[in-house]
Amino acid sequence: MKGAGPGGLALAHVRRLSPYAPGVQPSEPGWVKLNTNESPYPPSPRVAEALLRDLGADGAALRLYPNPRSDPLRSAVARMHGVESASVCIGNGSDDILNLLVRCFCGPRAAAAFTLPSYSLYPVLVGLQGGAAKTIPLDRKMRLPVEKIAACGARILLLTSPNAPTGVRFPNSEIRAILGNFKGLLVVDEAYAPFANDNAAGLVAESSNLVVVRTLSKAYALAGIRVGYALAHPSVIDIIDRARDSYNVSRLSQVAALAALGDPGYYESIIRKIKETRDFHMQSWAESRGWFTFPSEANFICTEPRDGRGRTGPSVARAALDFLFSRKVLVRHFPSDALTASFLRISVGTEGEMLVLEKTLDAWLKAPPRE
Ligand code: PMP
Repeated sequence: MKGAGPGGLALAHVRRLSPYAPGVQPSEPGWVKLNTNESPYPPSPRVAEALLRDLGADGAALRLYPNPRSDPLRSAVARMHGVESASVCIGNGSDDILNLLVRCFCGPRAAAAFTLPSYSLYPVLVGLQGGAAKTIPLDRKMRLPVEKIAACGARILLLTSPNAPTGVRFPNSEIRAILGNFKGLLVVDEAYAPFANDNAAGLVAESSNLVVVRTLSKAYALAGIRVGYALAHPSVIDIIDRARDSYNVSRLSQVAALAALGDPGYYESIIRKIKETRDFHMQSWAESRGWFTFPSEANFICTEPRDGRGRTGPSVARAALDFLFSRKVLVRHFPSDALTASFLRISVGTEGEMLVLEKTLDAWLKAPPRE
């Protein structure tokens, strides 16, 4: 390829790929960071204790490779969900698990399906695989078109529940209805399930074509250590284990994750706080500000801002995003999907951070409107 350098030798479908765009991670302090759904609270104090214990004074343990299968962590996750260890695989973040699933179950003649909107990594993984993609558009009601999905003919269906970036959870009755009719593998990406009123993990034991994917990045406040996992029928776990890097989860990540899972009481209390903060602001935006706001069961809120003249739309959302950015408040805008283009996705922060956000939104409403 002219001008592309040796990168031009890459396969055509990779050269054409638009990469995943992660949210901004500012390196300087002073930002109110509500753009990547991280926890506003620190992980359990047991995590740092366990890491320091494992490192020791000289870090000698780091000479050794980690447990290749993360076996102690598989057992801990299995106990937590009441399944066999053979039904668990640990990933380097849940992105690793999603990547493995797409690599093993999607290709040019084995389509992957996903809803629009949903987690924007899916089309990238499918594109990298040179795989066929089928998209299932949703509307503001966020009801799953169960019959359309069942008939879509995909080998694998990736469903984000609670959905991203809306925060709306799909009820188990709809998931069961899909499982009853869909011939492929149904992957329910439950990155945000600990903040929800219900989840599909309990359905794994009864449905061999269901995979539930979880992460420790959000509710467990461990985005920096990169641990996620899959719950699935042992035959599916066996397949993704074949494609997995032999040492896919670092030694310190395994230590940190085990310590976190060992402190459920701590996490119940921070999850409760995040849900209370979420519910308060969700109601206030819908009722006091009169902004259409999806009923979120995640640790973020997806709301359609209305400017000082009562207008909504993609340019209004963009103006609010830019105003917030100029005041060092980071939130996220997803302009490429028609359904979400007029919305902002705002991660739930501490009460202090949410106060700064509310004041900045008030200032935006009073600022002279842009034409
Ligand atoms: N699934 C969804 C729906 C997400 O929003 C994210 C976070 N961007 C992930 C999976 C990946 O999380 P991680 O790789 O940090 O486990």
